[in-house]
Amino acid sequence: MEELPTTLIDLLSNAIVLRQTAPYIPIASLLALSATCRTFRDIITTQKDVWRYLDLTKTAQIDTSPIDVGGVTWRTERMDESLTEDDFYAGPLRGICSHLHQRSILSFVQTLVLDGLSVPADLVREIVTEDRYNVRVFSIREAKHLNVSILQQVLRYIVRPTRAAGTPKLKALYLFGPKDAARYMIGQQQRLEGSQALGVMASEGAQIGAEWNQRSSDTLSTSLGDEETKWYNATGRALRKPQSDWPDTLVACLGLICFDAVLCRGPRHDITKVQSRNFLQPTIATVALGSAGCEICHTCPEGPTVFGRSTASASPLLGPVPTHASNVRAAQYPHRRCKDGSMPKLILRCEDCLRGRWCERCNRWWCETCYEEPVSRAHPRSELQQIEAREDMQRNGWNGTAPGQPVKVYSKLCVEHCLVSEMMSGAGSNGMWG
Ligand SMILES: [Zn+2]
Ligand SMILES: [Zn+2]
Ligand SMILES: [Zn+2]
Repeated sequence: MEELPTTLIDLLSNAIVLRQTAPYIPIASLLALSATCRTFRDIITTQKDVWRYLDLTKTAQIDTSPIDVGGVTWRTERMDESLTEDDFYAGPLRGICSHLHQRSILSFVQTLVLDGLSVPADLVREIVTEDRYNVRVFSIREAKHLNVSILQQVLRYIVRPTRAAGTPKLKALYLFGPKDAARYMIGQQQRLEGSQALGVMASEGAQIGAEWNQRSSDTLSTSLGDEETKWYNATGRALRKPQSDWPDTLVACLGLICFDAVLCRGPRHDITKVQSRNFLQPTIATVALGSAGCEICHTCPEGPTVFGRSTASASPLLGPVPTHASNVRAAQYPHRRCKDGSMPKLILRCEDCLRGRWCERCNRWWCETCYEEPVSRAHPRSELQQIEAREDMQRNGWNGTAPGQPVKVYSKLCVEHCLVSEMMSGAGSNGMWG
């Protein structure tokens, strides 16, 4: 007898196939499929793996336009005076969640992606505190109508010292980076032009084009254009500086919740390592320095972060949100390896630490151990003072303002390579170097 062709039911009855496929099927299609017959319904509504990863950003009904399709009915039914602004914006997502809860599916969800959607802080509070949710990896990048102060309060609440044992359930929060749909991709051309892909340097493409940085050439072979590349390469500015009160929240969450950004571990943030006048408050690391380390010692005083060896809070969560595992390890796991097969080194710093010791164009930098910034330059100057000092330096040579130790970085450029090349390129106009 001829064998019958494999049916969709045969396929989805296979746990492995189901687990690998489910994250790619929109929730509406899953529910529609489950409505077709009892067998599909049993497979889809009773298998935890089908719902472990839930990405609602692709659900058309909760489009983020002000008057969205799914929200209209919900809102018109409830448009009374008791409706708060948060209720209004949370309505569509809350509707979906309560629908899933009624079908006993909601508790299966361990990874929830709500990037770019309307996610008021009150809804976040429900998701991270209520028993019916089991969300461990949560992504709310570029969420709308999200009150950041309330969100910080919610996070501090769930990590409070008097919290219940086994809480918080939330282990990983994607919040600071761009949502995947809009994530930046390093095009081949851009990578050939220089190492910086983000931040102010992006606008200086023409200048950067002249500066080919050997450091980034090692990583050119990889075609990764995602957040692993952004953090592990010498990208320079990798993240827009978050609001000033975030570092304290990250400190409160240390060891409990990981984020897609980390605190700077530079020695000046450690009061046991520096004099109080040099101490810097906790700050989020926004600059990716690559793995090459300081120009002189080829490492960094705090020691590079290495996945699996350093504490989990030292590695940023990497986008895109992992689809097949709902844990911090999967979210932080770098896929690249060093030439000897070992895990790559990660050096991330804040701009405060790097002031005067990091070239914003080529990303060379000099650490606190190897290079003491000349005292005369340690204080911020006015623009006029900078111009005067620059003229001084041209007259007296680069050692002019700092007897003993040559200045490494001037006007945010390394003196040896980038500043010289910039001045040479401008030489024609003033004749100084001609
Ligand atoms: Zn050094
Ligand atoms: Zn720092
Ligand atoms: Zn430079």
